[in-house]
Amino acid sequence: MKFVDEVSIEIRSGKGGDGAVSFLREKFRPKGGPDGGDGGRGGNVVFVADENLSTLLDFRYNRHYRAPHGQNGMSRQMYGKKGEDKIIRVPVGTVIWDLDADILVADLDHHGAEIIAAQGGQGGRGNMHFATSTNQTPRRAEPGEPFEQRSVKLTLKLMADVGLVGFPNAGKSTFISRVSAAKPKIADYPFTTLTPNLGMVRIDVDRGFVVADIPGLIPGASEGAGLGHRFLRHVERVAVLAFLVCVGPEEDRSPVADYRALVNELELYSEELAKKPRLLFLTKADLPDTKDAEDEVRALAEAEGLPFFVLSSVTGEGLDPARYALMDVVEAERRA
Ligand code: GDP
Ligand code: MG
Repeated sequence: MKFVDEVSIEIRSGKGGDGAVSFLREKFRPKGGPDGGDGGRGGNVVFVADENLSTLLDFRYNRHYRAPHGQNGMSRQMYGKKGEDKIIRVPVGTVIWDLDADILVADLDHHGAEIIAAQGGQGGRGNMHFATSTNQTPRRAEPGEPFEQRSVKLTLKLMADVGLVGFPNAGKSTFISRVSAAKPKIADYPFTTLTPNLGMVRIDVDRGFVVADIPGLIPGASEGAGLGHRFLRHVERVAVLAFLVCVGPEEDRSPVADYRALVNELELYSEELAKKPRLLFLTKADLPDTKDAEDEVRALAEAEGLPFFVLSSVTGEGLDPARYALMDVVEAERRA
């Protein structure tokens, strides 16, 4: 699979706190020694791979990540507090690039893998460290080291989780555009005449899936008549298939007949795909003809044991239940 989710973000570590210049002042010791403490270390920016995440979608909404600075040192030999590390969780398989240097920073290929992508500055030493036999009152302290700022690109190869199967004009593309929050890029797509439609569906922060339509899966596709069969090979690893049927303008077709024709084609093409869990969507619920056909299609779904949804990408009716049902099946399959 060569679908790529890609996003560029800015990261900045924390600056180190400055060392303090200070002298002990006590009533009976007017010439106390230097007591300026050290500055705290600035926070690092750390990427951590987390198997519970599946897309880079969140980064499209928030592009700036900063770790706090270290606190300056203080008198009475007090150290400045260090800046907390800024932990950024990313899906397993995320590759991090430095955009300015054009180099690979890390390939976080397993759960828990982590990398410090921007190092926090060291804190400077306070003047308490600089007293010598010849200089009992050093006025010198070190400044904290500067922060590090980087533009990084995150890329993630995605697997399509849900394949949409349907005749041309069943409403696949429209459905994807309505339920998805972003479009992944298609990298190295080997076909020029045909581009699958892809979308990332976001359920909440940690939950989402990738949906891809399977263009051109029409009767005859398994013999090479349609364009879709070559693409089918690329979606063989989807977790679930959603069949989209509609009441079309052609009189010799019906949602039930279309479903059977699609299944038939799928079985001829790939036993593997034909075994995937299926859902059945009756689209274009806003059209009067659709309501008339609903009972018949529901009966088919019940006979076949398929979760069934009636939806409209125009009015939005039924879209949420369909998304949630897809998410549930995808998660069940991921666990399996
Ligand atoms: P695809 O070939 O399966 O990708 O189908 P499209 O998404 O391109 O839709 C085909 C046609 O049906 C387009 O003219 C859409 O505007 C229309 N369409 C899609 N969804 C709906 C819907 O929910 N209601 C209505 N009335 N038309 C729809
Ligand atoms: Mg389409």
